[in-house]
Amino acid sequence: MAWTRFGKKKDMPGGLWEKCESCGTMIFRKDFPKSRICPECGYHFTLDLMSRLELTVDEGSFEEYWAEMQTIDRLGFADRIPYSEKIERTMKKTGRNEAVLTGTCRIGGLETAIGIMDFAFLGGSMGVVVGEKIASLVDLAFEKKLPLVIFCASGGARMHEGALSLMQMAKTCASLERYQKAGGFYVSVLTNPTTGGVTASFATVADVILAEPGALIGFAGPRVIKTTLKQDLPKGFQRAEFLIEKGQVDRIVPRDALRAELARLLAYGTRQDPLEALASVAEVKEQKGEGDD
Ligand SMILES: [Zn+2]
Repeated sequence: MAWTRFGKKKDMPGGLWEKCESCGTMIFRKDFPKSRICPECGYHFTLDLMSRLELTVDEGSFEEYWAEMQTIDRLGFADRIPYSEKIERTMKKTGRNEAVLTGTCRIGGLETAIGIMDFAFLGGSMGVVVGEKIASLVDLAFEKKLPLVIFCASGGARMHEGALSLMQMAKTCASLERYQKAGGFYVSVLTNPTTGGVTASFATVADVILAEPGALIGFAGPRVIKTTLKQDLPKGFQRAEFLIEKGQVDRIVPRDALRAELARLLAYGTRQDPLEALASVAEVKEQKGEGDD
């Protein structure tokens, strides 16, 4: 499973250097920009939840909702270890209760409902709590008439919760249907990887679908498809660059340009001045002196 591999890598004692998974360049950890983009080849490394939040929202503007919501092991599921124990361990490791962070913030001065999925929490898988938090976030955006941004990163539905996890696909989409019919504006950002039940539900029913360069986006993984079809898959299959040609993604935006792009889109989506929103992002950049990192 993808998250096991991810977990091990993260737990490795870190040295001073990190090797780029794409071009092989050794990067001095201190030289890494906050965006975790390889300075040599532009490869987008995995970004942790709080860094994502910091890179995206106006400083000090985030207010978290439903942080206390916790998962219950309704099926008494166990594989190698009981699910309840797995949840407990993951909570301890990540310091978070579940695989999505939800709340309100400002981006370029514009009030926004925001959700950020956390791949470090059981591969960003969607169980009852993730589904409930996403649906509640959409309902909050509906009630407060806010635009909505969701950063997706997921291995799909959480198998430990069986059919209950699959029901979250319908639930999140039902909330979105009501929101969008009322004129709500929703931007989805697909990051590496966005797969399974998340791709097949709220991730891909947005007004605008953005993706990070190189992000793997699909339903079943390439290996499963290859084995089922007994055919070789085209080059770059299921990557953002492949999907934009097929019309499944609207725009690929490098991570360091995402905040400005979101500010511009949110202004358009809420009929406000995009130049004002962009100026507000640029102003913050200058104050922080982001040119030097
Ligand atoms: Zn590189």
